[in-house]
Amino acid sequence: NTQEPWKPFNQYKVYMADLESTLHFSLRVELAAHTVIKGEALSSLNDYISVLVKYFPGRPVVMNLLKSLNARLQNQTGDEISYEAIGEILDNSAQSADTALPEGVRWVGCQGSQPHLRRYPCGMWILFHVLTVQAKNSGGTDPKEVLSAMRKYVHSFFGCTLCAEHFETMAGESLSGVNTFSSAVLWLWSRHNRVNNRLAGALSEDPNFPKIQWPSPETCPACHSVKDNGEHRWSQEKVLPFLMSHFSSSNILPDYLE
Ligand code: FAD
Repeated sequence: NTQEPWKPFNQYKVYMADLESTLHFSLRVELAAHTVIKGEALSSLNDYISVLVKYFPGRPVVMNLLKSLNARLQNQTGDEISYEAIGEILDNSAQSADTALPEGVRWVGCQGSQPHLRRYPCGMWILFHVLTVQAKNSGGTDPKEVLSAMRKYVHSFFGCTLCAEHFETMAGESLSGVNTFSSAVLWLWSRHNRVNNRLAGALSEDPNFPKIQWPSPETCPACHSVKDNGEHRWSQEKVLPFLMSHFSSSNILPDYLE
């Protein structure tokens, strides 16, 4: 079991290699656990692919593949689809030269110090944050669209079932209060910090990437302030532009792509 050489990366950047690796794992591994997708799961898949087609800031070849998949799902007349039919669309060799999603994973910002640490769940968070930010930039009409699609994907497909239960509980508690694109971006950020808080010190924590309340005061000094009683307070009016910039397409690097 040879470990790949460590890829140096900048923690202030987002890597397209992580996002494409996440899509590869989600579409070719996680979905493949379902021989037939129907009912609620089919609706979750439709919403997920539709949101990716609208907001994923991907390379043209990858966007073409997502569009083919979306078209296949939209043209679906029955109330179920086999994973085999999805796999055919995802099969790069069956597509034209301008349609492809790289096979395999190349984790960069989501590398872990051990093979069982970070990687796909890390990539999924980054993908979710990128999508909420892109939706705010795209001037859509439904501020809950991305979060609802993510919630459904996690509920129907996310391989870590305990994570899915936790996420569903958080969504059930407060997702209905999200009524603007800004609050959607901030909702995901604050729930992610809640998860970080819960997991700090747990076995799933990579010792080289400790769970912190993110962004740290070093990364975004203006995001942190102190209440009159000395307690920490987030300056959400500073956190929002920080997130908008961190997860913007101009902060996504093409390094390490094939
Ligand atoms: P991650 O938490 O995966 O974060 C990835 C990157 O996002 C960080 O490196 C940082 O750059 C950035 N980031 C960190 N915090 C924030 C923030 N608040 N806002 C925006 N960006 C941020 N694991 C469990 O053991 N139990 C669970 O219940 C659980 N629930 C999960 C629910 C979901 C929906 C997902 C996607 C994952 C869940 N996981 C859970 C996995 C866990 O949250 C981590 O993804 C995993 O432990 C890997 O951690 P990481 O160090 O790569 O950082």
